[in-house]
Amino acid sequence: MPDRRSSYFAFQGLFLSVLLLIFIYDVPRHGPDWYERFASLVLILGSPLVLIRIISPKALSSWGFQAALFVGDAAVASVALQWAQAGANLYLIYVLLIFGTALSRSLLQSLFIALVSSILFIAKSYRPGFAIARPTGFWLQFLFIWVAASLMALLSADAERAQSEERRSYEKRLVDAERLSSLGQMAAEVAHKIKGPLTTIMVNAEYASAKTRAPGLAKVLGEIREEAARCGEILKDVLSLGRIEELDLDPTDLAQCVRSALRAAGPQIRKFRLKIEESGLESSARVVGDKTMLAQAVSALLQNAIEASPHGGIIRIKLNKSRRPLMRRDAWKISLQDPFYRLTIEDSGNGIDPEHLPNLFKPFFTTKKDGTGLGLAGALRIIQKHRGTIEAASLGPGLGARFVVTIPALDGKAS
Ligand code: ADP
Repeated sequence: MPDRRSSYFAFQGLFLSVLLLIFIYDVPRHGPDWYERFASLVLILGSPLVLIRIISPKALSSWGFQAALFVGDAAVASVALQWAQAGANLYLIYVLLIFGTALSRSLLQSLFIALVSSILFIAKSYRPGFAIARPTGFWLQFLFIWVAASLMALLSADAERAQSEERRSYEKRLVDAERLSSLGQMAAEVAHKIKGPLTTIMVNAEYASAKTRAPGLAKVLGEIREEAARCGEILKDVLSLGRIEELDLDPTDLAQCVRSALRAAGPQIRKFRLKIEESGLESSARVVGDKTMLAQAVSALLQNAIEASPHGGIIRIKLNKSRRPLMRRDAWKISLQDPFYRLTIEDSGNGIDPEHLPNLFKPFFTTKKDGTGLGLAGALRIIQKHRGTIEAASLGPGLGARFVVTIPALDGKAS
């Protein structure tokens, strides 16, 4: 979505200015709490201006922020209009404007609503003989209708767009996951067939290199063994993709799966002198799942964190229970009342280029020289088979990465 920071800032600024002008014009200075009310208006309407300046681009383009700004502005403007004793008619017209814009589906519809509101406003302001009682007040209020309409239309259209983008990206991920499922089954069959001949190649290359005395030939045979071993690794990943489709679902302890993934990664963690900070792994976290597959998914995330971390880096692993989904799209097949576990694996390593974020979970996407690009795709498929999801986040290259896994809990209360 295009960067709207400057448009939001400009419109919010205009909105604030017009409301302040109406307040200054309409409310007598000697009235009760004039200065307090004026100051609260500046504060309440001005704080979104600061927020728009400092908020991250991702949060700015999220539908939640846009919807909150829309509702917040509408609420504050209603209070301000009431303070300014702008009259029940203007208030009603403004309410019509808010609801109309909130329900409209396009900028054209919003424009139509703004036009209708203006006509209503003009109709109520004219006195017999076509005279406007207080021209300055009239033009200020007229300006207010148009500034409010433009800001609301911009926010409403953007919130709508952000929501449908979010929905599209989630649906796309589901399709990717389905593709991975059929790809995994087919690839696993092919991999199974290749495994036999590959083992023969490796065994024979080993035998021949043990027998040969020619140094040139030994080198070539060594290369054959190395490459065959690499093919073996890829086959292992592909074969495990096929196995994901045949999960063994039983009551399982997610914390135990994380601990076993940590144990398996122990030698690498020690080798690179990584520091692991863990929390929530002491108590059991009961889910319905396949413990081998869950450990495999966690291992894939941990492996990536290890590979991304510098020597001596820190990896944080946190497991907790919650009722609130991380994002609405986590609610896929999960009722909002269902408690679920949230496992966060965070590293302070290489970080992820924002351009790569949408591709991370695609099969065969890799930025590593020896990567297969199957780790995250497989992990996501495993977690989706458990009715959960994985979200990835990073502030950018060099700034570490965070992967959050959510899986419905088997029972118990959220903490
Ligand atoms: P592979 O590890 O074989 O490349 P994955 O599917 O596990 O395949 O990962 C895909 C890509 O996602 C990686 O190549 C890397 O660019 C990126 N990635 C995954 N985890 C991290 C992480 N913790 N930090 C930085 N980049 C990561």
